[in-house]
Amino acid sequence: FVHQLADESVGMEELLISPLRLEPDPSLPLPLELFGSERKNSAGLDLTVATMRAPLLAAYQSTPVPPVAEFDAKNAAAALAASASSYQMWSKTPVEQRAAALRATADAMEAQLPYFCALLVKEAFKTWGDAVSEVREAVDFLRYYANEAQRIMAPVAMPGPTGESNELRLIARGPWVCISPWNFPLAIFAGQVAAALVTGNTVLAKPAEQTPAVAAEAVKLFHAAGVPEGALQLLHGPGETVGAALVAAPGVAGVVFTGSTQVAKIINRALAAKDGPIVPLIAETGGINAMVVDSTALPEQVSDAVVQSAFRSAGQRCSALRLLCVHSEIADHVIAMIQGAAQELVAGDPALLATDVGPVIDAEAYQGINGHIQRLKSEAKVLVAPADTAQSASKGIANLIAPHAFEVGSIADMRNEIFGPVLHIVRWNGDPADVIAQINALGYGLTIGIQTRIDSRAQALARAAHVGNVYINRNQIGAVVGVQPFGGEGLSGTGPKAGGPHYLYRFCAEQTITVNT
Ligand code: GLU
Repeated sequence: FVHQLADESVGMEELLISPLRLEPDPSLPLPLELFGSERKNSAGLDLTVATMRAPLLAAYQSTPVPPVAEFDAKNAAAALAASASSYQMWSKTPVEQRAAALRATADAMEAQLPYFCALLVKEAFKTWGDAVSEVREAVDFLRYYANEAQRIMAPVAMPGPTGESNELRLIARGPWVCISPWNFPLAIFAGQVAAALVTGNTVLAKPAEQTPAVAAEAVKLFHAAGVPEGALQLLHGPGETVGAALVAAPGVAGVVFTGSTQVAKIINRALAAKDGPIVPLIAETGGINAMVVDSTALPEQVSDAVVQSAFRSAGQRCSALRLLCVHSEIADHVIAMIQGAAQELVAGDPALLATDVGPVIDAEAYQGINGHIQRLKSEAKVLVAPADTAQSASKGIANLIAPHAFEVGSIADMRNEIFGPVLHIVRWNGDPADVIAQINALGYGLTIGIQTRIDSRAQALARAAHVGNVYINRNQIGAVVGVQPFGGEGLSGTGPKAGGPHYLYRFCAEQTITVNT
């Protein structure tokens, strides 16, 4: 290590003094009454999965995935009209009452945690650990936005000359179309819907076509908590038909979308082509997320962060690590550790507690990721490639892809986001600022990991990276609501950040009232 330091020519005083990340102490209170989506004991076991094993498995046994009726895209205009009519009343409902409906929804969801986890395992093939984290995140979104709405929607008196009073307040916009993804079919669904509703808007919610049931169950809780049926309609169906018809229908006041960059651009163009008002779009999209590791980094910490960031949730997070850029001096060591750790991961049936990596969402996703893997097997250096496909077929689990890693030629080779458990590795030498510049040039800007023990370098690289979320000396997934506001820039989205203090503003219009006193 001292030898590496000499190479980096830095003084001891610049070193970060606590190199190993401590897991947050689960007994310490989080801000507000939030769960925090990531709570583990010292052995790395999710606390809820560890203590609720029996109710979780019982829920799994007794939970069928309820069917959800498809919406006919021809009725989009009628759905918009019903939403606009409900808006008249819902927007005038006091914010305290709307916030109370979110809190009641959160309480009911928390009380049914095993049921929602079981649905996530069955419908989205989440592992139990991921399912528990997701239910907590959904509950956190509901409570956080309830509190935030009450904080920001109170009118603010503005300074003004004598003889006049001035007040600024936030007001709702109208019916919002909320289009949510299958990779967080409960948390992102509930977050979008909650944000729109609590600010006084009404909602037409179009969940991902792969995962409508968990969304439909969440909608039942919103309705039971006092949200009128017209104020929140669930419209299930394909994006190409139902999503497109809703976006194009007259009277849409805003669209919030999480999904691919390509679809975000299609929505943006469709909104721009509409007659009538300019409609705001909040888009949270993909990323080609990198981690930059210099020669002072701790290989154990890097390996742990890489394996979690690249392979957890089968790599199906927009925050997930795709490209590891490791200094050539420690590359062999780090790669050997990643190979060892990746081979320990159990890919298999998500219903089994021991499974670390479940299947990808569907056959189309499987084919795309597998095609990429097969290409890299001939074009790149294979580092991790278990004989997963044959094994998974024999286990009877469809669409299973075990973790893979490849060494590729250059950062610029990364063209598309591969939404699965595939890690690309490049070695670098020289100035880490050049590495950041090459990553920036890819055009995405969601997450980046930085691993170094040189504090000033970590700060400088963080500032130079054009990304929304920077994680220094830890993994780069699992942003916690109200703690790590989440979202990117460039090809990765429009902002504002979900789970952050500015999110709700975008769902509102502003009104200044000046009175001649
Ligand atoms: N918020 C999630 C995280 O930090 C990712 C959300 C997404 O994949 O859309 O891992």
